Amino acid sequence: MEIKRKLENIRATLAPGCRLIAVSKTHPAQAVQQAYDAGQRLFGENKVQEMVAKYQVLPKDIEWHLIGHLQTNKVKYITPFVSLIHSVDSEKLLLEINRQGKKINRTVPCLLQMHIAEEETKFGLDETELLDLLRAEKLADYTHVHIKGLMGMATLTNNQEQIRREFRTLKTLFEKIKLLPLPPWVTMQELSMGMTSDYRIAQEEGSTLVRIGTAIFGERSYPHL
Ligand SMILES: *Cc1c(COP(=O)(O)O)cnc(C)c1O
Repeated sequence: MEIKRKLENIRATLAPGCRLIAVSKTHPAQAVQQAYDAGQRLFGENKVQEMVAKYQVLPKDIEWHLIGHLQTNKVKYITPFVSLIHSVDSEKLLLEINRQGKKINRTVPCLLQMHIAEEETKFGLDETELLDLLRAEKLADYTHVHIKGLMGMATLTNNQEQIRREFRTLKTLFEKIKLLPLPPWVTMQELSMGMTSDYRIAQEEGSTLVRIGTAIFGERSYPHL
């Protein structure tokens, strides 16, 4: 099936209030252009270099989402144009994003990536680290980031109940944080969860951003990426 049809099929099943990020990592710019021509404007990449390269050659009204692990030394390459960084998982990284945002006078939208999987291997903050990061005296330093919500990845498993439980845990945390006294540059409005194998469950559990690659662009030649 062509990209356009796949996009239409997925969009038809999206819950109201949930937006689709087309994860184009490892796929060429032409594939992104095809999705763009079918009306898609939100794209997700997990590598800085690849995202910058595509940004340079593709239409400028694309919203680029960085969804993969981000190293502090690469932040500066994306702060001028990135729409949302989903993968902020340390104070050190958030400080660097703030520093680079300040340099170019741009407030950079971010999500805090939470560790929700029962697997050991995934990146992300635990609840204690999150609450620590959101402490008022620390937040005062962040003049050029806007924390817009949370992101999480469920365990890679066929166990639907486990996946649902992990997403539900994230949604509960999201609602809990919403009730805290927060400064205006922390708003809990986006909950990024769900990919090809589990986005249906993620939507049922309250996702506002699903990140879908394989179901749109087909298998990647490097499946681990
Ligand atoms: C690759 C990736 C996705 C998309 O995965 P698919 O299974 O191809 O839909 C979503 N989120 C993150 C963080 C990814 O790295």
